[in-house]
Amino acid sequence: MSLRETVSVTCPSCRKAYDTSVWSTINTDTDPKAAEKLIAGELFDDGCPNCGKVHPLNYPMVFHDPEHLVMISYITDASEYRDKVDEIEKLFEDQPQVSPESGYRHRIVTTQNALREKAVIFYNGLDDRLVEMLKVIYSEQVLAQYQNVQFKDVFFLINPKGDWFMQFLADRPITIRVDKNVYEGLKKQMEKELALPQNEQFTIDMEWAYLKVNEKNKELEQQKIN
Ligand SMILES: [Zn+2]
Repeated sequence: MSLRETVSVTCPSCRKAYDTSVWSTINTDTDPKAAEKLIAGELFDDGCPNCGKVHPLNYPMVFHDPEHLVMISYITDASEYRDKVDEIEKLFEDQPQVSPESGYRHRIVTTQNALREKAVIFYNGLDDRLVEMLKVIYSEQVLAQYQNVQFKDVFFLINPKGDWFMQFLADRPITIRVDKNVYEGLKKQMEKELALPQNEQFTIDMEWAYLKVNEKNKELEQQKIN
């Protein structure tokens, strides 16, 4: 189910207050247009009815993709993380059909960019654990190649043609094409790890992926030695 709310905002350009509607939940089944706006990075843009200027809004919301059994919760304040976890765990009791036992994946993100990235990944039927591992692998290559660039963040994107990219945010942003075969190869290599139960994996980010990639590399080295 989708939920919209009306909120009052003050335009940062003309300082006039106006009412606008925001999403508390976007369901990809019932609101494909809103889901596409999120994926295009336009969901939080709001136009002022008075001066016509477009400015970004910020509010917490849930992205629910029932086709891919995913719920992504975006919180605007990282200090609310623990409360969000409690809220989601309560949801499992009230609605067992969205629990991990029913195959559902739940994620909590704290930035709009991360929300958009997760939506892109799941909406396209991909596994975010593998994409985070890809980000670690590609980052190592890019960091080695561009040693004088200060990187702030990296995001996975899919363009309307279906091509995959990594966008490195830096003083000099770098976008590189992602080879889908690398994803497929990693999927085969990590088959055993990925099949493990998914409970309590609310945060799947590069930090999580870095540990997984390191564990795997150690295991492969060990096999070589033996
Ligand atoms: Zn205005």
